[in-house]
Amino acid sequence: MKKLHFNRLGVKLSLAFLGVAVVAVALVAYLMNTFTSQQFLSYLGHSQAMQQMMGAGGMMGGSMGDMLAPFGRAEQDFLEAINRSLWLAGLIAGAAAILIGVIITRQIVAPLQRLTRAAQQIATGDLSQRVPVESRDETGELAASFNTMTEALAKNEELRRHMVADIAHELRTPLTVLQGNLEAMRDGVIKPTSQQLDSLHHEAQSLSRLVDDLGTLSLAEAGQLKLHLQAVDVSGIIRRVATGMENQAQQGRVSLEVSLPDSLPLATADADRVAQVLLNLLNNALRHTPAGGSIRISAQPSPQSGKYLLVSVADTGQGIPAQDLPYIFERFYRVDRSRARSTGGAGIGLTIVKQLVEAHGGRVWVESETGKGSKFYFTLPRYYTARRL
Ligand code: ADP
Repeated sequence: MKKLHFNRLGVKLSLAFLGVAVVAVALVAYLMNTFTSQQFLSYLGHSQAMQQMMGAGGMMGGSMGDMLAPFGRAEQDFLEAINRSLWLAGLIAGAAAILIGVIITRQIVAPLQRLTRAAQQIATGDLSQRVPVESRDETGELAASFNTMTEALAKNEELRRHMVADIAHELRTPLTVLQGNLEAMRDGVIKPTSQQLDSLHHEAQSLSRLVDDLGTLSLAEAGQLKLHLQAVDVSGIIRRVATGMENQAQQGRVSLEVSLPDSLPLATADADRVAQVLLNLLNNALRHTPAGGSIRISAQPSPQSGKYLLVSVADTGQGIPAQDLPYIFERFYRVDRSRARSTGGAGIGLTIVKQLVEAHGGRVWVESETGKGSKFYFTLPRYYTARRL
């Protein structure tokens, strides 16, 4: 038989039920004594003196000898039967109270105990803990919420572990290159030519960019990214970023076009962060567009909502396979893992784009077709001057 755990809540509940039963039976006894006995005596036609004597005692607790003495056998039997019934009712009510207490204890306390045990296990790091959902009442809801919470905790823990592994991997590669080359130069195996030094400098730069990106990402994910919001001319930022990338585009024989309306409304944004978003998107576009292709940056008031500006970066490059599209904004996600290092991507460029755009209150999405190209869109809130009343 399953052992009952009479913990404090269970004892409290049972005692409360028992108390209610005792009070109810005592009340019935008192009321019967006060009202019914008087009726009974007057029914029997007894004297006033007899009634006064009865008034001093109680059916349950009074002196039965005094009370019953003047009655005949039948009346005495009747009163004794009533008293017996009251005691019996008291006992049954008491037993029922304890039984109900035990049942309720099992229904409420047992799930709570399971939750407590599971929570203690989680505190020791075992995130596989789940509790059975056995009812649809509040304890069932609590158990279901607990399970949802532990699932979220387990998922976050897994993400965290992957992230640490990914960061370690991304840092290790350039560090190994730097270390290997520096050791070879120190030992005189290779000569520190300016070309060699340039290549090491390039590795150090990409390492420092990665660390910067990781810093931005962790701030954004913690919701602690400080944006210097002001009225920003997005056209100006687009032209500036495009001019900065022109050399790179020419080297890759990719044409870079900017398509802007005569007057684009201002946006409420952080100019440096918007430039960073464009830079990441353009870098990706250049990386994935072969020679002879083209990249076009456009901006316009959003056709969907007058409160936003819509910016897009479209390329005629290799495109993104449909099965990868839902994941490309996730951190460290790369479509082609093997090629990623040689092309310099760590898989966080688009994650940063998403975080920065969303920090502005905008949205980012992509349309892409393999072999045809990709078009990334993002929105930024328009700037509105405060109206005077
Ligand atoms: P990475 O640093 O590897 O570029 P991102 O987060 O910027 O990481 O991009 C994630 C993946 O999305 C990339 O590995 C790449 O495969 C794919 N991707 C991003 N932009 C483009 C694009 N314009 N064309 C094709 N694929 C792209």
